[in-house]
Amino acid sequence: MKQMSKFPVSVFFFLLPLTLCAQSADKPNILLFLVDDMGTQDTSVPFNYDSDDQPVISELNRIYRTPNMEKLAKNARLFTQAHAYSVCSPTRISLITGLNAPRHKVTQWTHPKTYKSEPGAIKTKTLKNPGWAVKGLPENIPTLPALLKQSGYTTLFAGKAHFGPDDTPNGDPKNIGFDINIAGFGGGGPGSYWGKYNYSANHRSGDHVWDVPGLEKYHGTDTFLTEAITIEMNQAIENAVSENKPFFAYMSHYAVHAPFLYPDARFAQNYPQLKGNALAFATLIEGMDKSLGDMIEKLHDLGVAEETLIIFYSDNGSANPMGSKPLRGIKGSRHEGGTRVPLMVAWAKSNPDNRFQKRLPVKQGTREDALVACTDFMPTILKIAGAKHPNPESLDGFDISPYFSGQDAKRPQEFLVHFPHAHRNNLFSTFIRSDWKVIYSYASMDWELYNLKEDPYELRNLAKEFPERLQSMAGHMIAELDKNEASYPVSVETGEPVKPIR
Ligand code: CA
Repeated sequence: MKQMSKFPVSVFFFLLPLTLCAQSADKPNILLFLVDDMGTQDTSVPFNYDSDDQPVISELNRIYRTPNMEKLAKNARLFTQAHAYSVCSPTRISLITGLNAPRHKVTQWTHPKTYKSEPGAIKTKTLKNPGWAVKGLPENIPTLPALLKQSGYTTLFAGKAHFGPDDTPNGDPKNIGFDINIAGFGGGGPGSYWGKYNYSANHRSGDHVWDVPGLEKYHGTDTFLTEAITIEMNQAIENAVSENKPFFAYMSHYAVHAPFLYPDARFAQNYPQLKGNALAFATLIEGMDKSLGDMIEKLHDLGVAEETLIIFYSDNGSANPMGSKPLRGIKGSRHEGGTRVPLMVAWAKSNPDNRFQKRLPVKQGTREDALVACTDFMPTILKIAGAKHPNPESLDGFDISPYFSGQDAKRPQEFLVHFPHAHRNNLFSTFIRSDWKVIYSYASMDWELYNLKEDPYELRNLAKEFPERLQSMAGHMIAELDKNEASYPVSVETGEPVKPIR
């Protein structure tokens, strides 16, 4: 700063906007296409491969129609071992902070309206859940959108926010670094997907807790929520492009989260074999896929497809009413069905001569078997955007962009899930390290051990067969929990934290 004072102040302010423009022009656009509650089986694109390198096409894969995902896959590096946490909020907070959930403490999903209500509280005979960040995103923490905005991006948000309850600043995405918020609030789901019900649950239960804000112009129409936020986000992208600014578009679909009450009429005839919730879910998937296609088409129309990187991801395992076979478990589960998610990365239009694609070539139509997780997007996107984190050493995630080009990102093949709450499975921690996965359930004090390479569907608990391996994996998991200052379940009797018993 001392040196800068040699320049007259007016010169400094004259130079500043030019510098920002030069930086902005040299940045690719980023479309983060985040689906809610979508698992790896909820698509016609296979994400599982067998030991002979052949795709495992499950019964569920055969049901769903996702032609735009199929097209994207042809352009993409597809990840077979992408993980997220077992429920929404922990993943969503990790995604924009780069921190592990036990560290940021948003280990459970946050209430839509008030931090005074605690979802998933649990008390067994011996244990209860510890305190956690019921207000969502911690205060004064650098967020991905805020850092991108600082580096010259227009930051656009549409859809499901769920960064914290409405009675905290986190209820509005504009308070955490987004320039524009389309339809986001504290809630993790919509009251309804139907315009004719004003995207509210009021027509069936009389309350407004899950009302989707904004979008009034679609109220009373037959516009499905997925479609409405796609139209609005496409317009916001068009505005950003017309201003000649790079954009970060965080397209966060409410789909395919419940409610599954009514099918999307546009696609219902494509699934004559399905009924009820399963039919509604299938039409949510196809509507999400149409949105992906519509957004890619818009990028082409605007002439920015070559310079827009698409990251397709989901925030936790499937909540499919038909399950997630062959994976074990669904959203909320300690098994892989709870935490395995689809991930694809692609340029919206491939052109090896494009300057951004020269810098970051994506190995098209190929797959990557390395383990990656939600914490990795913060450092990875900052790197791609040429943006800086004020304290990069504090991040738990890793820059995985070398994987996009088929290079080795050397990410440690580890992933810790810590869920000291209730939601399908209760009070558990899991840890993956290379081929092995260990699970501890605090209430029953049970250990499970799986070799994911040989047994990806977790059918054979090896805890008794391999006691030494179990001990070593348990040690790694507890060390990782301690390193992250995890909040352990609390003894009902003493009020003291209770660590896994080895
Ligand atoms: Ca979710």
